[in-house]
Amino acid sequence: MNRSTMSLGALLAITSVSVNASAAGFAQEAAPAERGSAVASAATVAEPIAPLPADHPLQEALATITADDLRDYEKWLASDERMGRCAGEAGNDEAAEWIARQFDELGLAPLGDDGTFLQHFDFRVRGGEGGKMARTQNVVAFWEGSDPVLRQQVVVVGAHFDHVGTAKSLDAGRIGRATPADEIWNGADDNGSGTCTLIEVAEAFAQSGLKPKRSLVFIAFSAEEQGLFGSIHYCANPAIPIERTVAMLNMDMVGRNEGKPIEMAAIGTLQNDLWRALVAESHPAAPGLVLDLKNHYLPDSDHSSFIDAGVPTTFICTGLHEDYHKISDTQDKIAYDQMAQITRFATALLWNTANSEAKFVFEKPKFEPRGRGKKLGVTGEGIVAPTRLTELGLSKEQGGYEVNELIPDSVGSKAGLAVGDVILSIGGKALSSDDANVSLRRLIGGAPSKQDVAIVVLRGKEQVTLQARWE
Ligand SMILES: [Zn+2]
Repeated sequence: MNRSTMSLGALLAITSVSVNASAAGFAQEAAPAERGSAVASAATVAEPIAPLPADHPLQEALATITADDLRDYEKWLASDERMGRCAGEAGNDEAAEWIARQFDELGLAPLGDDGTFLQHFDFRVRGGEGGKMARTQNVVAFWEGSDPVLRQQVVVVGAHFDHVGTAKSLDAGRIGRATPADEIWNGADDNGSGTCTLIEVAEAFAQSGLKPKRSLVFIAFSAEEQGLFGSIHYCANPAIPIERTVAMLNMDMVGRNEGKPIEMAAIGTLQNDLWRALVAESHPAAPGLVLDLKNHYLPDSDHSSFIDAGVPTTFICTGLHEDYHKISDTQDKIAYDQMAQITRFATALLWNTANSEAKFVFEKPKFEPRGRGKKLGVTGEGIVAPTRLTELGLSKEQGGYEVNELIPDSVGSKAGLAVGDVILSIGGKALSSDDANVSLRRLIGGAPSKQDVAIVVLRGKEQVTLQARWE
């Protein structure tokens, strides 16, 4: 997942959209808390989901899915030997070759360059000075459908396999510091977890020989952490024309927060609530999962590129956690049993989507923030590079967020923020340099309304105090 360059306005919208989740097993958004009452947490739902019937055609495929398979894949992908799988580096190339080998051994067909599974592309390395270019590759595989007509259409399932590298890589969004004992950002959850799930889903179809009516395209994306480049490249150069891509499922960070509701975003990208119907039809494959459906989405992973290309898309994620983009995102912390349930659900969702007789009509989801979410109206980047922190005279306790762009008439514009300002504190509370993006979001979210809130920024060499006001 990539949350470091996106707009804070979009980021904040996530707290503020409520969802109609009426079917059993979906998390219900907490009602707005009454003044003075305890804040209700997202409650789960009463009625259990009935499991899939024993004679369902999916059963044989689902039986191939195991937590042990996922653990084995993850051990390989998130091992120190992969050096954080940074796009453009050897550890990433090696991981791509390995994923291609898994697809090949399963009997999927190659859809990359020149009859291989690899789709190469060049991208601008993030964190580099003067725009250094590098070469990397997506891994693209095909599982042909059974219907002579419908198999011309495809459903894409994707997960990015790259991560942010090591202390020696250019900084593509690392959080926290290397230690003398560890300087590798293993990215077990982000996104070893989605990559393992992708391979395990492919295995479920391949080993059981299960063929839905439409064809499936499996894609492991690279350079997501650098700016979603792999999915942007695929959508501009699709192996199967994008007009024949009826839907896409993205999986990014599906290995943590055991027992909490599983987020499914961008549910609003299909007309007539078709995603909700397909999710409900697929839920019996993993009846224990609690699913939290959201109509909206954040442009924080590869689903966003497909939505931009007009493809109905949804996104499964188990949510952020304290190890996000840190060296501590390691494979021993992954919830493998829950991931196996997510793999079962994803397999069923692909099956039902690829078999559906319904008409797939794309709808651009609307952002409708209501009340609770506060926005500052800036885009920018939390400072994580130690050299930049030193340059600005900031410490570990004092992080900063550099403003790149201001939305006109936003709270930030009205307060007098300027491009180039480095935000240091909000309401007297300092940003942390370990987690500048997340702490800024928290401080904005926690700022009081209808009164002046001090924002301290570094402007050139001077600290300037501005007053912001949320209504
Ligand atoms: Zn990430």
